[in-house]
Amino acid sequence: MQLINALRAALGDSAVLTGPEDRAPFERDWRGLAQNPAVAVIFPQTTAQVTEIVKLCADNGVKIVPQGGNTGLVAGGVPAPGGNQIILNLRRLHQIRALDPVGDTITAEAGATLHAVREAAARANKLFPISFGAEGSAQIGGIISTNAGGMQVLSYGSTRAQVLGLEAVLADGRIWNGLGALRKDNTGLDLKQIFIGAEGTLGIITAATLRLYPAPSAQACALAGVADVAAALELFTRLRHQCGPALTLCEFIDGPAMQLGAAHTPGGRLPFGAPAYVLLELSALDAAATPAATLERLLAEALESGLAQNAVIAQSTREAQGFIAMREAVSEGELREGGAVKHDIAVPLAAIPETVAAIETLVATKYPDCRLNIFGHLGDGNLHINIRPPAGQTLASLATRKTAITIDVEALAVARGGSFSAEHGIGQFRLAGMRAHKSAVELDLMRALKAALDPQNLLNPGKLLPVKDLS
Ligand SMILES: Cc1cc2nc3c(=O)[nH]c(=O)nc-3n(C[C@H](O)[C@H](O)[C@H](O)COP(=O)(O)OP(=O)(O)OC[C@H]3O[C@@H](n4cnc5c(N)ncnc54)[C@H](O)[C@@H]3O)c2cc1C
Repeated sequence: MQLINALRAALGDSAVLTGPEDRAPFERDWRGLAQNPAVAVIFPQTTAQVTEIVKLCADNGVKIVPQGGNTGLVAGGVPAPGGNQIILNLRRLHQIRALDPVGDTITAEAGATLHAVREAAARANKLFPISFGAEGSAQIGGIISTNAGGMQVLSYGSTRAQVLGLEAVLADGRIWNGLGALRKDNTGLDLKQIFIGAEGTLGIITAATLRLYPAPSAQACALAGVADVAAALELFTRLRHQCGPALTLCEFIDGPAMQLGAAHTPGGRLPFGAPAYVLLELSALDAAATPAATLERLLAEALESGLAQNAVIAQSTREAQGFIAMREAVSEGELREGGAVKHDIAVPLAAIPETVAAIETLVATKYPDCRLNIFGHLGDGNLHINIRPPAGQTLASLATRKTAITIDVEALAVARGGSFSAEHGIGQFRLAGMRAHKSAVELDLMRALKAALDPQNLLNPGKLLPVKDLS
């Protein structure tokens, strides 16, 4: 094929994979639920090479699927059905270009992993505050394109809040260099915002300048046991009131989810049994501060009033990391034990107990053989409502019911002023939600942007935007 020969000539043979077995891991999403063929998987090493690929694909009428670490949970980074697509994997474009300890910024290429950026920041005694279970593989371009959240949004905001500047290759092959590091710049439209959360449909991000923060000097982490999500919310509200932004993590994990996480963490052991758990972290910049003492006092009050049933404060960094590892292992544990129909909803905080009660009633009445797993970022109102197949059965056993389950769960969230996709994005799996819950005006505005920036629909077709009403 002419395109493949041209790509090999431009990038070298090792940067172009065409064999079906070589392509397969890149064509399949993290959960193994979507797999469609790509013509090739391409690994550019420079922004100039990305430009070259885009121009060659445009000339040959071949579509481009930008791909980072392929850890996305909505199949945005793998081909949609329809063929005639290449996967443009950014993993070789991974340099840390600069770290400015005075301006508190880091400039990294799109293929740098989240872990590598966090480590580079830590070496300079700084914090890059996006953090979640897949950070060893997820890349900077991927987290920006999905506006990823994670466990510390509570204090620092989501990825959008961390982006100061971007470099991107447009669908016409031009490079937009918007790698500014300014915190104030009101010179017209803030163009970087267009690409954040666009899931690779409007341009290919090749580098970003990101905000850093001073690394905390002292931290304390605790695991509390509570009766239910209402008690968890009350505990969060009290701690937030007392600690403000020093409360840097507040995760809710129901009992079954936590048991899965513990079972799939090497050496994982729950210090006590409980109907539900709250994972907490307090951070301080002042080395003289004693967050462990504060946490101990607040948890003692919660235990005394009966709000918490049990609580353990980590006695070492290792123990704290162990608690966090068990929380992070929930998704992987779920996948290894048969998978789940997954949801990623957000609701206003006050609506959390009522939403969870409605979901429990839904499952008990309409899907009584299924098992419910609820966990997520409590302080952001973001819960993963995952419905597992009956014990001993695989996800395939829910094939005929999974669409109905998702319609029901998403509708319950939206009816309470919530979102049907809080942090994972739309990809291929949430397109029905876009159609059901976004207004015609919202979809028209998004389509207008897409048509202006990518009139040939070259970039990531079949993702984010549902095709226009077929009726
Ligand atoms: C165990 C586990 C835990 C997770 N926890 C969280 C969590 O707590 N919070 C959260 O928000 N997400 C979470 N995720 C989801 C996922 O890790 C994030 O969505 C992440 O941001 C995806 O990054 P990636 O590099 O793997 O991107 P991919 O999966 O490769 O791609 C995601 C999307 O971004 C696009 N894209 C990738 N790179 C570029 C680029 N350079 N330019 C343009 N478009 C690009 C792709 O086309 C696709 O649409 C989790 C996933 C797993 C597996």
